[in-house]
Amino acid sequence: MRKPSKRREESRQYYLKNREKIQARQLGYDKKHRQEKRDREERRRKSHPIRHARLKRASYLRNREKHLATCKRYNQKHRLKKSKISREWRRLHPIKTKALAIKSKHMYRARLRNAFGSFTYQEFRSLCKRFGYRCLCCKKAEAQLVRMRRMLVPDHVKPISRGGSNSIDNIQPLCHAVSGGRGGCNNRKHASEVDYRGKISSAHSFRIRRCSAK
Ligand SMILES: [Zn+2]
Repeated sequence: MRKPSKRREESRQYYLKNREKIQARQLGYDKKHRQEKRDREERRRKSHPIRHARLKRASYLRNREKHLATCKRYNQKHRLKKSKISREWRRLHPIKTKALAIKSKHMYRARLRNAFGSFTYQEFRSLCKRFGYRCLCCKKAEAQLVRMRRMLVPDHVKPISRGGSNSIDNIQPLCHAVSGGRGGCNNRKHASEVDYRGKISSAHSFRIRRCSAK
C-alpha cells in the first residue's frame, strides 16, 4: 500500500477534527446549489451514458442495503400517492392491465413448475397480428370480442401443468372474458392440449393474409 503523504495525512487529521463543521458546510452548499448540481449531473449523464450507467450500477452494488432501505422508506411515505397513480393508470388502460395480470399469472405458474422460457407483451401482440388479431378457436375478430367484453389472451398450446414451455412457440391467442363478460375459448380449452394454430381453414387463412397486408 502507498504511504500517505504528509500533506494528505494533515488534511485527513483536519477533516477528522472538524468533521461536523465540514459536513454542515457541504450540506448548506448542496442545498443552495441544488439545481446547478442536478443540471451538471444531467449533462454528465447525457454526454457519457455508458460510463454513467456503469458507475451507477457499481454504486448500487456498493450501497445495496442503504439503497433498498431508502426505497422502502420512500414507498412507505408515498404509499397513498403511488397507489393513486397506479389506480389511475389501471383505469385508463383496462386491457393492458388485464393482459399484464394474465402474464404475471403465467410467469408465476411457469416459475412454480420450472417451465422453460418467457415472452413479452410485444411478442404476444405480434403473434396476434400474424393471425389477423382473431381468436383461433371461435375465429372472432378483436373488435367483435371487445363488444362481447372479451379480449385476446395468450394460451399455452401444451399447458404448463402438462410440462409445456412458457416460450412464444407454445403460445396461441384465444379469447377470454374480462369483467362483465362471459365465456371465452381460453376457459373452455382449460388444461387440454389443442393446437388451433394449424387448424385454420384455407378461406380463413386467406382472410388473415388480407388482414395482415392492410
Ligand atoms: Zn374465442
